Amino acid sequence: MDIEKIRDDFPILKREVSGRPLIYLDNAATSQTPRCVVNHIADTYYRVNANVHRGVHTLSQEATDAHEAARRRVQQFIGAASPSEIIFTRGTTEAINLVASSFGDEFLHDGDEVILTVMEHHADIVPWQLLQRRRKIKLRVVPINERGELQLDVYKQLFNERTRLVGVAQVSNVLGTINPVREMIAYAHSQGVPVLVDGAQAIPHLRVNVQDLDADFYAFSAHKIYGPTGIGILYGKEKWLDAMPPYQGGGEMIAHVDFSGTTFGELPFKFEAGTPDYVGTAAFASALDYVDSIGLEAIAAHENELMRYTTAQMEQIEGMRIFGTSPHKSSVISFLVDGIHHYDMGMLLDKLGVAVRTGHHCAQPLMTSLGIEGTVRVSFAMYNTRAEADAFIAALHRVVKMFR
Ligand SMILES: *Cc1c(COP(=O)(O)O)cnc(C)c1O
Repeated sequence: MDIEKIRDDFPILKREVSGRPLIYLDNAATSQTPRCVVNHIADTYYRVNANVHRGVHTLSQEATDAHEAARRRVQQFIGAASPSEIIFTRGTTEAINLVASSFGDEFLHDGDEVILTVMEHHADIVPWQLLQRRRKIKLRVVPINERGELQLDVYKQLFNERTRLVGVAQVSNVLGTINPVREMIAYAHSQGVPVLVDGAQAIPHLRVNVQDLDADFYAFSAHKIYGPTGIGILYGKEKWLDAMPPYQGGGEMIAHVDFSGTTFGELPFKFEAGTPDYVGTAAFASALDYVDSIGLEAIAAHENELMRYTTAQMEQIEGMRIFGTSPHKSSVISFLVDGIHHYDMGMLLDKLGVAVRTGHHCAQPLMTSLGIEGTVRVSFAMYNTRAEADAFIAALHRVVKMFR
């Protein structure tokens, strides 16, 4: 991997913050976008722009071809059986809301139960709570151990005859823990229960094959894997998607509309009401091409090396607490230093040019279970360097010194 060449593909990495070179370590919140993706967006607007699916004219056909090719590109990237199992959404959040709303309406009844984990992002908690306004469903929560790993014995005990779905993040956005979702899915299936995987943090770092995992639903966002904002993917097994009612109504999702009744379109269009972001979907396909041209395995190895190198140096700092110490961990480090509020730490690091995330990371139940209000989180991407890790550590020492 030629990091300097990769960095050249990301113009934003050349900018300065507070008069210092930007060190961007907030990749778990959003990754930066390579030039080829931005150019793809511009090129579509300059050359092809036309609404998809309903036009006979050339531009509309070209735009439709690019949009549907993007769907097949995503299908191939995650190993789905068919392009009709790939639903374009606005992001992971909308993908999970779609399942909670549509699967929930069809398959969840008063008294039914959904198993979640304590490390879920709010995107995999609040949609189920919204459903609770319509259905008296019960949420059961898998706890973690002191390393930040799910307690699988408790997980298995949570199943009963009312369990209808499991929702689990493949990788925690706070702890970095890589959950054994394949085994969790196999167990859920042995109990006749389908599983929704929140793949937002997994997809940029792990090779995912939804058929190998045997996931029933898999959700992720383009903007966390070098793609544009506003594009997400919901993968769903055809047998579920076929059985689920539409999520929103409008154009694109119908077969025939009559005031006496409407018939809905085929998959995947049944779940894609209105004009899709065909500019974004096509650009997303180019982001996946970019990732594959470098190689996800090489990217992950590089990020893991940075994570372990940085962790080892952080551990030398007195009063350092790192949250998430599983050996099965992705390139995220959440921490607190005794006596320094996470918000102060984030602001002072920013003054030194280092962008990190602070706060509850949309995982307040996890914060509560850890007995804290928030953490500072650094997260790595393919373009981060060892020199940046060193600069971050130096900045961290400077901040700590201010408080001692
Ligand atoms: C970022 C994230 C989400 C939400 O993604 P959006 O792009 O904001 O919809 C959900 N789950 C996890 C684990 C995340 O990291």
